[in-house]
Amino acid sequence: MRLVLVGPPGAGKGTQAAFIADHFGIPSISTGDLFRSHVAAGTDLGKEAKRYLSTGELVPDEITINMVAGRLDDRDTVGGFLLDGFPRNVPQAEVLGRLLKDRGLELDVVLELVIEPEEVIRRLSGRRTCRGCGKIWHIEFDPTARPGVCDRCGGELYVRDDDQPETVRHRLEVYTEQTAPLVDYYAATGRLVGIQATGPVEDITARAIDVLEGFTE
Ligand code: AMP
Repeated sequence: MRLVLVGPPGAGKGTQAAFIADHFGIPSISTGDLFRSHVAAGTDLGKEAKRYLSTGELVPDEITINMVAGRLDDRDTVGGFLLDGFPRNVPQAEVLGRLLKDRGLELDVVLELVIEPEEVIRRLSGRRTCRGCGKIWHIEFDPTARPGVCDRCGGELYVRDDDQPETVRHRLEVYTEQTAPLVDYYAATGRLVGIQATGPVEDITARAIDVLEGFTE
């Protein structure tokens, strides 16, 4: 199964990506995670990407596409893959289509996680990340016993740059302007399915797997 997940920041793409990829036995490829690991490792790519990540802007297409193209050539994608956070605009989608076509492949399905902007702001601005172990908590939905302290490792919790309220608002604007047009782009291919991304996580996963099963050969 070759699958793309689209949806605004905070729709739960990362969480659902892990469950869906596990269910279908395919790797989950998150461009946000790839960028964050480059930033953490201090690579040239990471140094270049850092300023875009911290403001919520998209990293330039050329950098992003080269990184994804390299990743799609890894052997573990032979049986399919799930892309989380890529493509993020129509030009990236066009390049992805060409990359796959050159390899004699095409996307099976694009899954849209549908959620209201107010819910996104509530979810993202309450997120707290542990400096010690990286675990993500939420002040409202998944609070720690002591505010500001990780239950798992005792580490200090902080607000990721891209979860700061100003940045969250900007990421939503970027989504509306640049990424939302992808929904129409993929709808025209007849491969787009949308599911509601609110309610218990396991219900959303069940909904996702249910519709995706319809696209397996
Ligand atoms: P995410 O974790 O998917 O929300 O991505 C975090 C940040 O990484 C985004 O706000 C962008 O700065 C950058 N990013 C992730 N995916 C892409 C992409 N496909 N194109 C450009 N920038 C991206």
